[in-house]
Amino acid sequence: MTPIIIIGTGLAGYTVAREFRKLDKIHPLLIITADDGGFYSKPMLSNAFAQNKQAAQLVTQSVEKMAEQTGATILTKTTVNTIDTAAKTVSTSAGNFSYEKLVIATGAKPIRLNLEGDAAGKVLSVNDIADYAVFREQIAMLPHPARVTILGAGLIGCEFADDLAGAGHEVSLVDPNPMPLAALAPAALSLGLHTALTERNIKLKLGTTAASVDANGAGLTVTLANGDSFATDVVLSAVGLRPDLRVAQAAQLVTDRGILIDTTGKTSAADVYALGDCAQYTFAEDGSSRILPYIAPLMSAARAIAKTLNGQPTEIDLKPSPVIVKTPSYPLALVSPAPHHAPAGRWEVEQRGASTIARFYTAEDVISGFAVAPQDAGLRQSLLAELAEKG
Ligand code: FAD
Repeated sequence: MTPIIIIGTGLAGYTVAREFRKLDKIHPLLIITADDGGFYSKPMLSNAFAQNKQAAQLVTQSVEKMAEQTGATILTKTTVNTIDTAAKTVSTSAGNFSYEKLVIATGAKPIRLNLEGDAAGKVLSVNDIADYAVFREQIAMLPHPARVTILGAGLIGCEFADDLAGAGHEVSLVDPNPMPLAALAPAALSLGLHTALTERNIKLKLGTTAASVDANGAGLTVTLANGDSFATDVVLSAVGLRPDLRVAQAAQLVTDRGILIDTTGKTSAADVYALGDCAQYTFAEDGSSRILPYIAPLMSAARAIAKTLNGQPTEIDLKPSPVIVKTPSYPLALVSPAPHHAPAGRWEVEQRGASTIARFYTAEDVISGFAVAPQDAGLRQSLLAELAEKG
């Protein structure tokens, strides 16, 4: 039997494999990955300093265990270079392999800033466990507390800032927006997060960007576009991720911001599917498409694609699911309104006890998103019920 091939051993690739095995115990699965195939939960990476976790402690299952659990052959440290969708083969650093069906789960890559300075090359980013190991090692070699500068006050930048401050380090957070989490959260919640991070002694340097990073003895100097400069030990860039389209583009699949998939996860080529951070999902209700670089859509997609691979074509359920911002000093939950609602809609804010709740209403007065902080499961569930009822 020709195998089903899965490219990638992130949460997307491994979840498809696990879900498929629940449905079919026999069909051969071949998983090909550029990394070492250990299983870890990526969201843990931005919450691991305060818990004093080494990279190895975050790997919950070895590649051998994953091979056993998924009944798959797993090729590690092997890069897929291209796909021949007519011949149904993938070409890799370890040779060519034929597939019956193929799943692309190649994730996303950090966006690199164009920084000046003789130490711009020392700027780190953390998008996988190997990056986390390097980052942790650098900080471990410094006297405590280390001075850490984070570029980007989006979800990942704010999480790392709060986590590192929680571990006792001196953190500066730089972002061109006037508030943290400005692209995701309504103003009232961004303000609450600003207050919480400031109370954590995080130095917020907002409304400007980093222009250059230079060597300064054993440390570094960051110079901002507004002319300010300051000393730091480590610079971490968290300015965003971009879907990794290299394999898809080499195979001439249709791509936009991500690999375009239909409502069942299928790409423009027959028998080729994609999901996770590399994919651009299509919404059944209006045909619009978006990248959704979060766990919940990836899990839904994995369940649906596994059924489709097993011969039962299944639509991905993209019902709203909150993104949790794991900033312990001000934990948020957010369901963003659909982008086409955003220009004409409005946020309305309610204070309930210690928590701030913001609901997004469309021009037709229909609730289409919310944000809440400090959040808990009860608040999340009641707001999700409002969305399901009225949205
Ligand atoms: P990845 O985990 O990036 O996996 C990609 C895989 O593809 C890797 O195994 C890689 O080696 C392999 N690969 C790539 N190219 C090739 C190739 N050419 N050949 C072979 N193999 C290849 N989301 C949430 O919903 N909640 C959170 O709290 C949250 N926190 C986060 C915190 C951090 C620090 C980060 C970075 C992300 C966070 N996210 C969170 C996002 C979430 O973790 C991702 O959406 C998800 O893990 C993506 O999984 P993936 O499998 O698509 O990609």
